[in-house]
Amino acid sequence: MLGKRVLVPFRNRKTIGFIVGPGEPPPDVELRDVLDIIDDEPLFDEKRLAFLKWAADYYMTSLGIVLKAAHPGGLGASIRRVIKMTQDGIGALDRRRLTDHEAIVLKTVLNAGEISSQKLLSLVDNTSTELLNSLRRRGLVEFSYELKSDPKVKTEKIISASQGAVVSDPLLRRKKTKSQILEYLIENGRVPLDDLKEVFGNVKAHLSWLFGNGFIEIGEEEVTRDPFAGIEIKEDVKPALTLDQEIACGKIREAVGKGRFAPFLLHGVTGSGKTEVYLRAIEEVIGKGREAILLVPEISLTPLLVKRVRARFGRNVAVIHSALSDGERFDSWRMASRGEVKVVIGARSAIFAPFRNVGIVIVDEEHETSYKQDETPCYNARDLALVLGRMTDSVVVLGSATPSAESYYNALKRRFEYLSLPLRVEDRPLPTVEVADMRYEGGAIFSQRLREEIVDNFWHDKQTILFLNRRGYSTLIICPACGEIMKCPNCSVSLTYHAREDSVRCHMCGLSEKLTGACSKCGESMHGLGIGTQKVEEELRRIIPEAKAARMDRDTVAGKKSLLALYGKLERGEIDVLIGTQMVAKGHDLPGVTLVGVISADMALGIPDFRSGERTFQLVTQVAGRAGRGDVPGKVIVQTYNPEHPSIEHAVRQDSKGFLDEELKLREELGYPPYSRLVNVRFTGRIERETRDAAERAGEIARKLVTKLKPGAVQILGPSPCPVSKIRNRYRFQMLLKSTNGGLLRSFTKKLKKLMSNVTGDVRVSVDVDPYNFS
Ligand code: ADP
Ligand code: ZN
Repeated sequence: MLGKRVLVPFRNRKTIGFIVGPGEPPPDVELRDVLDIIDDEPLFDEKRLAFLKWAADYYMTSLGIVLKAAHPGGLGASIRRVIKMTQDGIGALDRRRLTDHEAIVLKTVLNAGEISSQKLLSLVDNTSTELLNSLRRRGLVEFSYELKSDPKVKTEKIISASQGAVVSDPLLRRKKTKSQILEYLIENGRVPLDDLKEVFGNVKAHLSWLFGNGFIEIGEEEVTRDPFAGIEIKEDVKPALTLDQEIACGKIREAVGKGRFAPFLLHGVTGSGKTEVYLRAIEEVIGKGREAILLVPEISLTPLLVKRVRARFGRNVAVIHSALSDGERFDSWRMASRGEVKVVIGARSAIFAPFRNVGIVIVDEEHETSYKQDETPCYNARDLALVLGRMTDSVVVLGSATPSAESYYNALKRRFEYLSLPLRVEDRPLPTVEVADMRYEGGAIFSQRLREEIVDNFWHDKQTILFLNRRGYSTLIICPACGEIMKCPNCSVSLTYHAREDSVRCHMCGLSEKLTGACSKCGESMHGLGIGTQKVEEELRRIIPEAKAARMDRDTVAGKKSLLALYGKLERGEIDVLIGTQMVAKGHDLPGVTLVGVISADMALGIPDFRSGERTFQLVTQVAGRAGRGDVPGKVIVQTYNPEHPSIEHAVRQDSKGFLDEELKLREELGYPPYSRLVNVRFTGRIERETRDAAERAGEIARKLVTKLKPGAVQILGPSPCPVSKIRNRYRFQMLLKSTNGGLLRSFTKKLKKLMSNVTGDVRVSVDVDPYNFS
């Protein structure tokens, strides 16, 4: 029975549970009968359960939450709430003691007989779950719950005009939008609902009218989901390994042969052929009858890596990506647990792939912070890879051109075996990197040097990448008269101006408004300061009007399709200059790119985070690595106001080891990881005072608790407001716990967690073990 899902009653509804084994329930838990067993085959076995339990314990959360994270999308089963009318409800409709809106909702339920809450919500505008709950509390409707299995395929609604429907129909007289929609449909044939929404905005009411009067038809159609279908697989030729690759592969092969836990740090400069080492290692593991997990920071940004793995291993590969429907995800999961596929590629949650006999876990770009989940459970897939490796006697390979300080430290301490690929393949040189000291450039966006090189590169028909960490046009909108800064009303961050859409946006909560132009305090016109990608694009057009420029950031690249389209254009030489955010820093081979300009290397340095120096080094080095992947050597120009900063100096020399040695000294002096362990306790709430009070009470408890330990055994920093003190109208405070003794810190935090829960009331408390985000 272990590992199967069951349907169980919970309060006055039903929910899905996992069977995690026999045993006595805790004393305060009430036992309930299982209503239904959902699965024929279990989703996990003892070994995987032990792993999941480890994760729950280490990240101080419940097993249930880890089970949920490990089985995303509910794995193809969910509960549907069905709503029915009661006698009282019918009576209330008659007596009319209802708001108009409530009456509409009740009438809809009455007409339908019974209706799922999802459908009801989509049918009647402005209906909320709260409203439905309120109707139920008053006994007007009743809820029941049924299990539904999700469709295996994702579908979308397709709208088309009915045969013979004409705009000149008398019924459509003076109905302007409805006529326009119908005209559009007649012209365009079958139109997905989403497209229609893009053209006409909220069309729900119009469509239901048009449908009700027989003008249109609404159908469902399967969506094609494979985001990687677009790029063709180049024929896979196994290159002869370079000497360094040969050595690295040899070590890994030896470890695979022994079948024991063996962690490696594969430190290879950009373009040194790390991926080929992964592929050989996977081949080795499959040869031994075992399976491989390959983790990537973000699957939609690594389509080419996915292609290469597929080209080598074909149908043995399952790719877990966000475009999968729950049903498809379930299928991938199932294939892995049956051993029908041998390789799973995915972002951090793929660490939970249900292989029975995993033999290798590879973490590509191991330094990337996206391996750490920001919300509960706050696990780090890179760290869990090592745990899984130990539990399953597997090989673990952490690969990067810019290893994290933590992994580098582990390699120094010989906890990891260090493998190095110091040279690019085929004797390609590393790019030359130059600094442009912006202190002498009079506030220009492009330094003299960068401007010259961009123009020169363009006239030589070569491609350029310009990197900037901020999207939008101006990153700060300020009143020149009174200094007022335009901030998001929901979040304590400044708004960004987007010129093309003439809107101001919050990059935290997504708020988007027309720029009114006047300062809310004094009425003066607001000015934009700071540079975003849009402004860089504008400046580029000023210098070389004939250059074909494109932007690659979250504004221009919403889906995988547009990313691939952009890469296609780059490959075909249809773009001269690519301007982008972090997205362009990811590991893509763009042989035509010979010049990289880092518009501002200083962006990350100001962030209050002990890792900001490390991030800056990694980002600049990774972006620089985009240059000169082809036969022509690359050139990089790094613009900075801090040319002497060690992160920038080392990045310019592309000297990871030098940087890391210095960084580790600094960390040791300041007592930061890897020389200590951290836990961040965060408090969020809607009312500022309440949130602060809760945080402060928790702080008092922590300080009292710490007096029972040896002096200095656990340090407490804060509580204090988070640097971003409000997000989506929730106030945020945090308290950092620090210790050189990881075990002690854990037991301390566990005690604290228990004691805190009595004093924090409605304020949400989350505990982040080994935190990465301090903003
Ligand atoms: P990294 O991941 O280290 O940045 P890649 O693995 O993407 O580097 O390799 C860079 C390029 O070199 C790829 O196009 C790859 O096909 C090619 N390559 C890898 N190994 C070899 C080799 N031994 N000989 C020739 N080309 C190679
Ligand atoms: Zn906001």
